[in-house]
Amino acid sequence: MARLVMKFGGTSVADIERIRNVARHVKREVDAGHEVAVVVSAMSGTTNRLVEWCREASALHDAREYDTVVASGEQVTSGLLAIALQAIGVAARSWQGWQLPIVTSEAHASARILDVNGDELVKRFLERKEVAVISGFQGVHSDTGRITTLGRGGSDTSAVAIAAALKADRCDIYTDVDGVYTTDPRVVPRARRLDRIAFEEMLELASLGAKVLQVRSVELGMVRQVRIFVRSSFDPPESIDPHKGTLICAEEDIVEQEVVTGIAFSKDEAQISIRNVQDKPGVAANIFGPLADANINVDMIVQNVSADGATTDLTFTVPAADFERAKDTISNARAQIGYARLDGATDVTKVSVIGVGMRSHAGVAARAFRSLAERGINIRAITTSEIKFSLLIDAAYTELAVRTLHSLYGLDKS
Ligand code: ADP
Ligand code: ASP
Ligand code: MG
Repeated sequence: MARLVMKFGGTSVADIERIRNVARHVKREVDAGHEVAVVVSAMSGTTNRLVEWCREASALHDAREYDTVVASGEQVTSGLLAIALQAIGVAARSWQGWQLPIVTSEAHASARILDVNGDELVKRFLERKEVAVISGFQGVHSDTGRITTLGRGGSDTSAVAIAAALKADRCDIYTDVDGVYTTDPRVVPRARRLDRIAFEEMLELASLGAKVLQVRSVELGMVRQVRIFVRSSFDPPESIDPHKGTLICAEEDIVEQEVVTGIAFSKDEAQISIRNVQDKPGVAANIFGPLADANINVDMIVQNVSADGATTDLTFTVPAADFERAKDTISNARAQIGYARLDGATDVTKVSVIGVGMRSHAGVAARAFRSLAERGINIRAITTSEIKFSLLIDAAYTELAVRTLHSLYGLDKS
């Protein structure tokens, strides 16, 4: 007997038929004698609609009320799945974040989980043999008692946090693809499913654009040592292959390590270039200080050494959503910074190549530069770190670049 957390995302619970399908997946594990807690997302499209309603009601809305609205999607699914389970003879009860409770920080719309109380669930596992169906994405703030949400894609984090609290043997993330691939399989049909991927690599993949797992869920899984297994809810519930999927695990548990494991890309980037900036001490502080004060995350930074010793150009990227605010912030600080012109672009993509093998191999990025150049793809900015490098390119070349790099590093399936 094992203790399992099973998480089902939006497309897996898109309508009543899909929810019935999920109930059969759960029944399979219950029939096998396991203790099961299920975490559900809102039905696909629901959260987007709720977010849009908040915007329509008022562009500048109260984040506490936003959370009240958007948390409702998960409540619907948890109730419906409990009904569907009961209908096929499986004892089940729904739980909202505030009922357990799942205690979070007060950062509405992007709250962090502080504590999960699993005692009630364990009691019910033991006494009533009941499946707990828990709403993902939501929690409650300890002091105010108000409903919070964990940021988009947050049900993954709910699931991993609950698995850690329950000391579950495994956290199964059921989604609309059958595992983690070398890159988004919807963009590159030749992408290959990975049997295993190291936590560090998954962390980079997720934070650099692959939305298959929310970044915080991977962080939490790494710290709390949760076995996370990504698999498909679209495979037949009664005869699913228990080995088909991707295990997120420690680096040491991977036998054959390739140099490059995967490629991620993100279109949510914007580029800002400041022309003829004074090349003197303190200028970077004058630029990035105000951006930090405005809570704007700066990612790639490229600065030239000036030829004349007087001025230079400086380029950096910010999240596309912060583009206008970032430009305003720089303009407002123009007197302190001193520059000739401000340029910007939002039609850019950040493509990232990831692999722990890069630690011990030189020249991995150089091959990418050559290969992209041969296809006429210009690189606007580059950043590197121990296990990844990222390139900023024109958005129009996204698919060509990802496919080119995917083949270059031998990731295509045979
Ligand atoms: P869910 O609703 O189940 O949470 P998401 O839509 O959040 O599912 O995440 C699954 C999607 O992530 C897939 O449909 C796929 O298009 C996308 N994705 C991006 N990169 C990858 C990758 N490397 N491997 C698998 N899926 C990926
Ligand atoms: N329903 C939420 C969202 O769409 C949380 C999730 O699906 O993980 O972002
Ligand atoms: Mg998701």
